[in-house]
Amino acid sequence: MNIVLLGAPGAGKGTQAALLVEEFGTPHISTGDILRAAVKEQSELGLKAKGYMDAGNLVPDELIIDLMRERFQQPDTAKGVILDGFPRTTTQAVALDTMMAELERPLDAALLIDVEPEVIINRLCSRRMCKECGYIGTAADASCPKCGGEMYQRDDDNEATVRNRLDVYATSTSPLIDYYRGCNKLVVVDGDRDPKEVYVDVKAGLGL
Ligand code: ADP
Ligand code: ZN
Repeated sequence: MNIVLLGAPGAGKGTQAALLVEEFGTPHISTGDILRAAVKEQSELGLKAKGYMDAGNLVPDELIIDLMRERFQQPDTAKGVILDGFPRTTTQAVALDTMMAELERPLDAALLIDVEPEVIINRLCSRRMCKECGYIGTAADASCPKCGGEMYQRDDDNEATVRNRLDVYATSTSPLIDYYRGCNKLVVVDGDRDPKEVYVDVKAGLGL
């Protein structure tokens, strides 16, 4: 399967991707995770991306498209990909179509995890991540329920940045919903429920 996960920040893309990976083993490619790793390593990409990320703005299309072009060169992508956080602009979506056409691996679906903005603000401000395994939890998790690792809050999960990320989503990313509807690839699931219930719809929507 080659799928794109669409939805506002905090809609649950990473959580659903983790469930898909666990069951199907398809590589999960999260541009946010790749960029955060680059920032941590202080690589050239990380140094360029950090300011945009801390403000909740988009990293320039050229950087992201180059990054993804490189990622698609890795052999693991041949068995399919779950794209999370890419594409985020129409320019990126068009670039993705070109890349997939070149690789002769057409996209199967764009799955929109639909959640209202008010729900998102609460979710993101209480979101915590595991330093060791990347598990996505909440402020109620004193340590990681999966591996016991230390939980931390992402630098961009504060209210001011979250509000900007939601504005950026509405302006730059939500047009992709119509883009994928127009090519008959859009599948919509209600994301405002327990992750396990959402996952049932995700699989049904993808025909898995
Ligand atoms: P979320 O979906 O929770 O907002 P991500 O982890 O996907 O967060 O991304 C974090 C940040 O990384 C974004 O706010 C943005 O600055 C940058 N980023 C990630 N993916 C892209 C992309 N495809 N295009 C531009 N910027 C991106
Ligand atoms: Zn963990």
